[in-house]
Amino acid sequence: MIRADLHIHTLFSNDSSIHPKTLVQQLIAQPYINAVAITDHNTVKGYYKVRELASAHPDVTIIPGIEVSTVDGDLLLLGVAEVPPEPWTVENVIDFARSVGAVVVAAHPYREYGLGDLTKDYKVDAIEVLNGGSARQCNALAEKLAKKMGLPGVAGSDAHRVEELWSVYTEIKASTNLDEILKAIKTGLVRVGHMEKPNTLKI
Ligand SMILES: [Zn+2]
Repeated sequence: MIRADLHIHTLFSNDSSIHPKTLVQQLIAQPYINAVAITDHNTVKGYYKVRELASAHPDVTIIPGIEVSTVDGDLLLLGVAEVPPEPWTVENVIDFARSVGAVVVAAHPYREYGLGDLTKDYKVDAIEVLNGGSARQCNALAEKLAKKMGLPGVAGSDAHRVEELWSVYTEIKASTNLDEILKAIKTGLVRVGHMEKPNTLKI
């Protein structure tokens, strides 16, 4: 079993202040989180930077990802290291994700920029039921949606500042192997949790 933060923004998202170097330092300095997905807004540049910086640390897994601002709301793609071709309709982005074997997650469906009830019209693989930046009620609605759709629920901090890193996490029944992680998310071998210890260290 591993713990993963499946939703993190670096400096390459223009609304985040997390430097890739700081992220990697924080990640290797703590024992709780084994994998992180880099999900910058509409770019994968941050992922490549983090991957390069973490390459000397094979015990942590950097999951390639992206948070795509579709016309109807945000979609997280996990397991993909390229930007989907435009136009970014939900349908196009999901088709692209399928073609590259990525996992599609409806990000914070009931918060601003979420897909809301529209999520039900699409074939997503999982619902973000615990988003570190969302109010309790939004997460509760997302949890309900996941149950209704019979889909796995995942968690991500949606960190834009270092202090927010892995405030919540997804427990995944998998090793640190990327393919195993993606498969386990798709098949629902996941459970969400809150971090109880101080999540970042002063470095
Ligand atoms: Zn986000």
